[in-house]
Amino acid sequence: MKKIIVATKNMGKVREIESIIQDENYQIITMKEAGIDVDIVEDGTTFEENALIKARAVAELCDVPVLADDSGLEVDYLNKEPGIYSARYLGEDTSYTIKNAAIIERLTGVPDEKRTARFVCAVACVFPNKEEIVVRKTMEGRIGYEERGENGFGYDPIFRPDGYDVSSGELPMEEKNEISHRGKAFRKMWQILTEERKSNG
Ligand code: IMP
Repeated sequence: MKKIIVATKNMGKVREIESIIQDENYQIITMKEAGIDVDIVEDGTTFEENALIKARAVAELCDVPVLADDSGLEVDYLNKEPGIYSARYLGEDTSYTIKNAAIIERLTGVPDEKRTARFVCAVACVFPNKEEIVVRKTMEGRIGYEERGENGFGYDPIFRPDGYDVSSGELPMEEKNEISHRGKAFRKMWQILTEERKSNG
């Protein structure tokens, strides 16, 4: 079985990624399981750059392919904030109850049609031979008026995906993965990796 490392310490993401990539040919290993502990400075200016920075930093420390994602929430009315700063918005250690309340507060009086937002996910794969691939996908939706749901993580309770009457925090994980930025980006990456494997024999 081939090994691939997922470069994230966020266990919410790891669970989602494991459920998205169910491939009997691959064993998905977390950084912790691989014994890799590195603090990475995400100083890129785009989701793609930050995903590559994370994947490269871990790839330096091992000899298997490394996957990393960088994701975040873009709120159109807030000039696409918090964007690449989604995890750091109002401080890395600030609870999402506070972060979510702050976003709702900043949208006070803003009508539904102007509450458009999207989750963005860039996924990078860096191989031991330094080859790199990056893909980007989104999930479009709107910011709600209150936190709803106990599933997911981060900004899920205030994000209502287009075509749904519930927040992404109310969707079961499998259902969220079908439509989510991360689900779409990892499936696309997996398709590319699988095709490469076929063409490389
Ligand atoms: P990253 O770990 O640097 O990619 O930061 C991603 C941040 O974006 C997370 O900590 C969340 O704040 C937010 N985020 C990304 N994807 C999601 C999602 O699917 N649901 C809720 N929040 C998300």
